[in-house]
Amino acid sequence: MLYVNGAVFLSVLLFVIGLCVGLSVPTNFFQTKGSDALDSAPLIDGHNDLAYNLYELLNNNLDEFNFTKNLTDDKLWGTKVCDSCYTDLPRLRKGKLGAQFWAAYVDCSSQYKDAVQLTLRQIDVIKRLVAKYPDDLEFVTEAKNIEEAWKNKKIGSMIGVEGGHSIDSSLAVLRLYYELGVRYMTLTHMCNTPWADSSLVNDSSVHNLTEFGQAVVYEMNRLGMLVDLSHVSHNVMRHVLLITKAPVMFSHSSAFTVCRNYRNVPDDVLHMVKKNNGVVMVNFYSNYVNCNSSRKATIQDVVDHINYIRNFIGADYVGIGADFDGVESMPEGLEDVSKYTDLFDRLYESEVEPRWTKEELEKVAGRNLIRVFRAAEEVRDQLAKTEQPRQDIINARDIYQAEVMSNVQPGSCYTAKEWAPLKLNNNSQQ
Ligand SMILES: [Zn+2]
Repeated sequence: MLYVNGAVFLSVLLFVIGLCVGLSVPTNFFQTKGSDALDSAPLIDGHNDLAYNLYELLNNNLDEFNFTKNLTDDKLWGTKVCDSCYTDLPRLRKGKLGAQFWAAYVDCSSQYKDAVQLTLRQIDVIKRLVAKYPDDLEFVTEAKNIEEAWKNKKIGSMIGVEGGHSIDSSLAVLRLYYELGVRYMTLTHMCNTPWADSSLVNDSSVHNLTEFGQAVVYEMNRLGMLVDLSHVSHNVMRHVLLITKAPVMFSHSSAFTVCRNYRNVPDDVLHMVKKNNGVVMVNFYSNYVNCNSSRKATIQDVVDHINYIRNFIGADYVGIGADFDGVESMPEGLEDVSKYTDLFDRLYESEVEPRWTKEELEKVAGRNLIRVFRAAEEVRDQLAKTEQPRQDIINARDIYQAEVMSNVQPGSCYTAKEWAPLKLNNNSQQ
């Protein structure tokens, strides 16, 4: 017994000496893993397009969808047959996802046509999906409920409308989306709206952010709906950041300096995001994180984007917006929604100075988004004291001209009052 106690004493003594002189103790001896941060803060992903896949593959028929099954080898949803399918509950759980903004996205080809109806269908399918899996999902419309749902082991489920074409240039539609639970809107997708330019214009401009576009931003501020600047042109990002009354988000965008794709956020805008107290949720899409076509994207590319933004403006302004199910190629090491944990492990291990702290990882995981969400709610509550719903109606001529530029027969689908004079003009010309 004495012998054993002596041995224990000796090893403790050696260990303490080792600690004091900095020898023989591995540097990460006391360190936790980076992914441990996902146990102490909810991981919130800014963008997942599962709902669009539900539309594409099942025309939103949830009876044929088994979310509780690992779908990796499924004959419809498996990785071999569907190149944009990455999501199911078992893999979301493995990846420790805490909350998700599910995108209600409809194709730009529906602009000026049935975009509103199709968007309503996508909002509906997300709500039905959440209701169908109450043990795993919980519908969330307020910042405080994200953490609550997560503590109850539910994946908080929010809705983001991806693309301003979904409101068909109507603030009335925007307001009703909010009532249905939509908590962000991306101002454009890959098409200009009559009031905001998409990233496809690069550095040039077509409409920029028009007066009506500004009214959209102000109305979103008033409602407490987050303004999402992913997909808009760099000039629109700048303009919105100059006028918004609430912090903004980029639901799925990476750093332009690391990969020069106009879907990514340039340095001057990153500075503005810091000033605005907003958040850039980094996109994983291979083509946005790696601009070197001679090699494949890897998890390290995503780490590089996150490290770049964190070192440039601080850990308070970075988040995660993977874009699973919206793209056909993900980096090696981030093949599906089960891999978020690997990303956080890797961040913690990365050789940047200063090293990542657990608190910073928690912020990137979800605390930053919650802060932005809360701030938007506070602005909403403040504005409620002084502002009424905006009654702006877009100048019908702006839509007319945008439709001409999009090769759509102008006004063919419109019967609203503001179109009457234009239709008269049009007819009299014939
Ligand atoms: Zn997108």
